[in-house]
Amino acid sequence: MKFADLGLSPAILDAVADQGYDTPSPIQAQAIPAVLEGRDVMAAAQTGTGKTAGFTLPLLERLSGGKRATPNQARALVLTPTRELAAQVSDSVKTYSKHLPLNSTVVYGGVKINPQMQALRRGADVLVATPGRLLDLYNQKAVKFNQLEVLILDEADRMLDMGFIHDIRKILAVLPKNRQNLLFSATFSDEIRSLAKGLVHDPVEISV
Ligand code: AMP
Repeated sequence: MKFADLGLSPAILDAVADQGYDTPSPIQAQAIPAVLEGRDVMAAAQTGTGKTAGFTLPLLERLSGGKRATPNQARALVLTPTRELAAQVSDSVKTYSKHLPLNSTVVYGGVKINPQMQALRRGADVLVATPGRLLDLYNQKAVKFNQLEVLILDEADRMLDMGFIHDIRKILAVLPKNRQNLLFSATFSDEIRSLAKGLVHDPVEISV
């Protein structure tokens, strides 16, 4: 199996090659075709499996086929439990989208909100965020979800462990219903399954 066999375009394959990756990891081989088809995905995957590229590469492929985000809109939202993970995912998004005309932004708590409000004015094709700060920005009308196409929950089990379930539910309530949903979690507890029930529809289930 090669990255070139997965249905990704040259701009993305070039960015992957620049990283020196040779073969897709098992989660990438399974997740990339499913996400490209527009399916919802529920994946059990730990850090270190290559899950970030597993959702980012097909996400960028899909977004590159559509209209760019207009000011203050987000077309894809990646929710992460911590600012460290948000920064890491955002770096990956920037790396893999370097040959694409897509804009990405990252927002998290513990830093000034004004620069984030400023950055969101450009519109974000991909917005990576921690839940609390995202809600603050939404309540201040700095970010809108009219154009949202894809929602990704990364490390969903950690988000629940950290007490973000209420914030996540508030965010879900303001997203357009017609969207693609990707759920990544190291473990699948009853709590995650109950969250997944109202979130993913007929998902491709992946376990690595
Ligand atoms: P992740 O599980 O997404 O945190 O990724 C773990 C690490 O594996 C990151 O440092 C990636 O840069 C690297 N990585 C991701 N996909 C591949 C691949 N197909 N081949 C080699 N390394 C990879």
